[in-house]
This record gives sequence, structure tokens and C-alpha cells, in this order.
Amino acid sequence: MRILEYQSKRIFSQYGIPIPKGRVAINAIIADHIYEELKSDVVIKAQVLTGGRGKAGGIRLAKSAEQVEELTNEILSMSIKGLPVKKILVEEAVRIDQEYFIAITTDKDEGVPVLMASKYGGVDIEEIVKGNHNALFSMPIEPLVGLREFQVRSAALAIELPKQLWHDFEDIVLNLWNLYRENDAENVEINPLVISEGNRLIALDAKVTIDDNAIYRHPELSEFFDMEEEDRMEYMAKKYGLSYVKLEGNIGCMVNGAGLAMATLDLLADNGGQPANFLDIGGGANAEKVASGLKIILEDERVKVILINIFGGITRCDEVARGILNVMEEKHCTLPVVIRLAGTNSSQGLALLQSSGFIAAENIADAVKLSVKASKGKKR
Ligand code: GDP
Ligand code: MN
Repeated sequence: MRILEYQSKRIFSQYGIPIPKGRVAINAIIADHIYEELKSDVVIKAQVLTGGRGKAGGIRLAKSAEQVEELTNEILSMSIKGLPVKKILVEEAVRIDQEYFIAITTDKDEGVPVLMASKYGGVDIEEIVKGNHNALFSMPIEPLVGLREFQVRSAALAIELPKQLWHDFEDIVLNLWNLYRENDAENVEINPLVISEGNRLIALDAKVTIDDNAIYRHPELSEFFDMEEEDRMEYMAKKYGLSYVKLEGNIGCMVNGAGLAMATLDLLADNGGQPANFLDIGGGANAEKVASGLKIILEDERVKVILINIFGGITRCDEVARGILNVMEEKHCTLPVVIRLAGTNSSQGLALLQSSGFIAAENIADAVKLSVKASKGKKR
């Protein structure tokens, strides 16, 4: 999961990596306020999850309050590579004497982190590196040993960094390594790392990507996530230990077991229905897990009917029913809900649901037909 530049920079500063002063804004009034605070020329930077913002006109220098307003409005009305710009970062403009590229990334083939560096940092790095393999220094990091100082010095030598900056460079790269390791990052990147006034090294750009499979280990990062709707729902599901994949249709599905869930989706499609999602609540789900699954489905505004298909083995149907009832009461759900409960404790489960207006289906074929019918807006 990639996070935005301003969020990445917040983590940078927690790790002692120097960044320009600045703050995020969502409109020209706030941008102007930050400009007044910084008392310097500023750079206005589009916050979108893609690189190449500079080339797309999403990074602009402003030297007056008028320019701040004008450029803020201009950037906030842009889309970069299809992504609408909703936030900007207003930062003090920094003089650039030299730009470098530094990254620690995961080599998935070798299963090791790799330190990368180049003296050709900036917006053209990709083309330069493509044409000239010597332009990019790269060195694998032994995961159990960690990044060693001699490796950082090799990088400094390779990018011809002036000697008097080696000490600061070492601090920055070792801190970047700590950030990478402690946050289960997949990739951390500074492009450009610049030499600025007073011979200081500053990270002008910041890119952090966290391994999706490790996000549950970092609840503290959740505030940083600026997710698209789809990612947000998948993230919620992951947090509760559910497997959720958003699809295109309008029948919200909750099923136990991946195989049964796939079969349910196939049957819906065969019967002319369109599933809104894949959702496997797993084996032995308790009422709480069922409730979270159902809440995720209810978040999806396209859903017109909910299909719950449970074959209870270790999953107990009465527990499932309790989860459903809790959510329906809490959320005042008025959508039709088709339920097929079979297996362990199914009669207790059905008894609990009896007086609650659900559509009980005898078997999976019925459940599918009833859901498809309801999804097309026909009467029950
Ligand atoms: P990207 O294009 O999405 O990678 O965005 P960057 O944050 O890397 O900015 C692109 C380029 O804009 C940098 O390589 C710099 O050359 C330039 N830039 C960004 N911030 C500043 C700044 O404060 N001062 C100056 N002079 N140039 C900047
Ligand atoms: Mn950049």
C-alpha cells in the first residue's frame, strides 16, 4: 500500500530524516495560511499516489500570495495519470545544488532488501538508468544482519557524494533502513535527496510503500492511509481477518469458505445476477466476525440485496444468526436479505432469525434465484 508524499514525510521526520518545512492543504485559503507561516517562497505539490508529478505540472513554485492561490486552484483541478488531486503539500522552496536518488526496495525474486543509489536523481532518473546501467548503484542487504555502514559508504562513493556530507548521508540512509524494517515497508525512496544551502542534505520527495500483508501489524499507520473506497473496504476486511474482494454488481455476498464463495458467485452469474463482492468469513467465524463482514457489505452503496450462504461445519449457524441480528438492529438495514443456513446448529440459527423478516432459502439454488430476483427490483 502506497502512502502519499506528505504522509511519507511525516514518517521520515519521525525517523530523523530531514525534510523541508511545510503542511498539507485542501484549498487556497489553507494554502495561503501556510504560505504566510513559512515566510518564504513555496513549492506547491499535488498529493496523488503516482510518480511523475513534476513532469505533469503538479509541482509548482509560488513566490507571492496571488501565485499561491492561483497555482493551488490550478493543481486542485488537475488529474494526474487519471487520479484527481484532492490535496496539496505547501512547502518552503529549497535551493537545489545537486539531486540524488536513494531507495531501499525489496527484491522479491531474491527475497532480500536492496540499497539503491544514483547521482542522477530527479525527474529523469528512469530514462537515464534505462540507458546506462552504471548510473544506478545497487547492493543487496543481508536481512538478518541489516544494512551496514560500509554499504552506505559504498553508495556514497558510487554517487560521488562530497566527503564532508558522508556522515549526514550515513545517518539518513541508516534511518531510512530502520524505517523500512520497522514498518514492514516494501519500498522506501527519496528522489531527489538534495544538497541545498549551507551544504545540507534534505529529502525533497518521499515515497513509502507498506507490504499489504503486514498492515495488520501497524495499526498506528492507519491514520496515514488515504485510500480509495475499494482499498478502504479491503483494508477493513483484512483487519477483521476476512477475505474481501470488491466486484462490479449489486448482490452483496457473505459466505463461509473460499470454495463455497466462488461457487456462489458462479451460480449467481449463471442465473443472470451480478455479485457486488467476494467475501469469505472463514471457518468457525463467531458473531463478531459475521457482523464485521455484514457491515462491510452494507458500506457498499450499490448493494440492493444481501445473500448470506452458510454451510456450517465448524461454523455454528446460531452464532452466524446472532451476528446478523446484531448488525441489522444497529444499522436499521432495510435491504432484502436472503439467507441459506445449513449444517451445524442450523435449526437454532433459523429459529433466531424467524421473526426478523429475512428471506430464508431451502438450498443454495433457491437462495441464488431469490437474490437475483430481488436484485432486479422485482417484488419478493
Ligand atoms: P515527482 O515528479 O512526483 O517525483 O515529484 P518530486 O517531489 O520529486 O519533484 C519533482 C522535481 O521538482 C524535483 O526533482 C525537483 O527538481 C523539483 N522540486 C521539488 N521541490 C523543489 C523545491 O523546493 N525547490 C526546487 N528548486 N525544485 C523543487
Ligand atoms: Mn520524486
